[in-house]
Amino acid sequence: MAAADLHIHTNFSDGKNSPEEILKMAQEKKLEAFAISDHDNIGGYLHLKDQLGNDDPELIPGVELSAGHRNEDIHILGYYFDPNSEELTATLKQFRERRNQRGIEMLNKLKEQGINIPLELVKEFAGRSAIGRPNVADALVKSGMVHNFSAAFDKYIGYGCPAYVAKFNITPREAIELIHRAKGLAILAHPGIAGAGQHIDQFIGFGLDGIEAFHPMHNSRLQKNYKAFAEKKGLLYTGGSDFHGRQGKYGQVGSVSLPDNTVALMKERLS
Ligand code: AMP
Ligand code: ZN
Ligand code: FE
Ligand code: FE
Repeated sequence: MAAADLHIHTNFSDGKNSPEEILKMAQEKKLEAFAISDHDNIGGYLHLKDQLGNDDPELIPGVELSAGHRNEDIHILGYYFDPNSEELTATLKQFRERRNQRGIEMLNKLKEQGINIPLELVKEFAGRSAIGRPNVADALVKSGMVHNFSAAFDKYIGYGCPAYVAKFNITPREAIELIHRAKGLAILAHPGIAGAGQHIDQFIGFGLDGIEAFHPMHNSRLQKNYKAFAEKKGLLYTGGSDFHGRQGKYGQVGSVSLPDNTVALMKERLS
């Protein structure tokens, strides 16, 4: 089994750890390659790429784009794109600005409910990432407005609740084409989660390059099936831990094993 982890989050999106901490984990696990694939953000990759030495694992440019398909949340992973692509940079900037704007809209809706949460507090929780609902939830807990994190979603910011605001998305087709115009590979993330897998054939029609067969939320039978499916369709298979630095549903860095040829096949498809 090759030691690679192609799905890792940092505190440039909703992960807990800095890119430097992720590098340390990748070194400790003796990974050959790793990808920081933050949600709608490549800041962690840009931050880390010039800090690597010759003996370090390969850092692959990565991103996990939020794509909406009807009312489903689809995630499209991009790899080996040109990180200086102007169009990609502009789209990621738009994601950031729309997220921060949405944070303000959520606070305005909370105000209508008689709840005053200072934007500064939410920004403190967001740190170097754009504002997400977990940051608003943390601020609601800190202000004593709810007893715990999940109550914030149940009462205020969960889907259909009074302070819920939908987030900005692009479509799966736009995500795939954007990654391609930036000369990267477009991979459907965790097809076993939330029914994303049922659209694979449609996404292949948009030029999808592969599927993330190996993911902590796919059991070993599902992983095997997705790999076989990818091979049958002439698609790549990739995988990773989806590490966020928190306990719970995702794995630790390097905890998901990939077939030896995973990264080599990706490079082959690029050329
Ligand atoms: P956002 O991308 O800003 O809409 O935030 C989505 C994140 O909020 C998810 O990744 C979860 O971490 C968290 N989240 C969403 N719904 C819930 C819920 N019902 N309870 C707890 N956390 C949730
Ligand atoms: Zn996440
Ligand atoms: Fe995801
Ligand atoms: Fe992820």
